[in-house]
Amino acid sequence: MLIVQKFGGTSVGDLDRIQNVANRVSATKKAGNDVVVVVSAMSGETNKLVRYAEHFSANPSRAEMDMLLSSGERVTASLLSIALNEMGFDAVAMTGRKAGIVTDGHHTKARIEDINPEVMNAAVKEGKIIVVAGFQGVNENGDVTTLGRGGSDLSAVAIAGAIKADLCEIYTDVSGIFTTDPRIEPKAKKLNQISYDEMLELASLGAKVLQNRSVELAKKLNVNLVTRTSFSDEEGTLITKEENIMEAPLVSGIALDKNQARISLMGVKDRPGIASDIFTKLSDSDVNIDMIIQNKAHDGTTNIDFTVPVGDLNDAKNIVDAFVASGDIEADSYNEKICKVSVVGVGMKSHSGVAAKAFSTMAKENININMISTSEIKISMAIDEEYAELAVRSLHNAYELDK
Ligand code: ASP
Ligand code: MG
Repeated sequence: MLIVQKFGGTSVGDLDRIQNVANRVSATKKAGNDVVVVVSAMSGETNKLVRYAEHFSANPSRAEMDMLLSSGERVTASLLSIALNEMGFDAVAMTGRKAGIVTDGHHTKARIEDINPEVMNAAVKEGKIIVVAGFQGVNENGDVTTLGRGGSDLSAVAIAGAIKADLCEIYTDVSGIFTTDPRIEPKAKKLNQISYDEMLELASLGAKVLQNRSVELAKKLNVNLVTRTSFSDEEGTLITKEENIMEAPLVSGIALDKNQARISLMGVKDRPGIASDIFTKLSDSDVNIDMIIQNKAHDGTTNIDFTVPVGDLNDAKNIVDAFVASGDIEADSYNEKICKVSVVGVGMKSHSGVAAKAFSTMAKENININMISTSEIKISMAIDEEYAELAVRSLHNAYELDK
């Protein structure tokens, strides 16, 4: 098999751990596989470099920041390659440029536009172990760029797609994706497999493990992703196409998003185009809307409620207040103390009763549901933040996710 193995900051956090990674790569190679390794900077290193820059300037040039930050990954890549050479392997470290990773020109948050895998393919053919510095590429002018914080996952997935790897393993300090956050429900179980779409909906559970951007890219490039820990041989979680999943459970997991706020608009003039006016303004300011409900008031106006990430609340307030000032909306109010609990599973496409069970579980616990939204594979409920943990535990129990 051709395997991409990506090791995050904690997995390469000190020299012993880099040796530990070398041993793991060695075992994979000795088992008869071809290996391309992608590494992060040693943990804390990127933050340290950011602080160094801030010592000199509150607003350093982004191009200079890319020169600086890309060095962290190069340190790890060269050290790992040196360790592998010492163990008798033919290993070679590569920068993003050498690996053929071409990005756009957005310094410090560049997008990968293309990968020219010829150099990597040739090295693999010669039996070499390639160690690529993650998180970086090169723009059309030849300047080094970085892909945004946490971006070496993205490097790994993009490389796996470009060289048509059979598997892309992402090693972190977490052993995989769980049915819910084990800090909330200690009975949470590690999932063996999950589909891309479920993983994207369960983002809050994978947040520590994988960037959403990487899952989206894996889906697009059809890369089989595995998240697992570098600290034991425990098997991780495979994230793959829905068709590859053997027996999809009805519900795969329960996600919690505490980072939500609710905006209520009262007495909205009931005329065609008003919702479009409000929500176009919001979207023009990049306010991310999630759930929306609208209902008629008695006096011919309507009430509209919607949720936004807490970070977008201020922008949203400003926009909504302008509508109040112009008389299109009578009044508005805000509530930051809400959260969103979601039940996620591809199995609900073909089974009924999943939503009813979610609602009755909330009813049994006397938790009031403020808003509901659904997709083919998800039921989300907005509830008071104080019931967040209780809701997660009772849903986890109701769908027997601990079994
Ligand atoms: N070292 C970079 C960061 O900390 C990239 C990464 O680790 O994925 O954001
Ligand atoms: Mg990371």
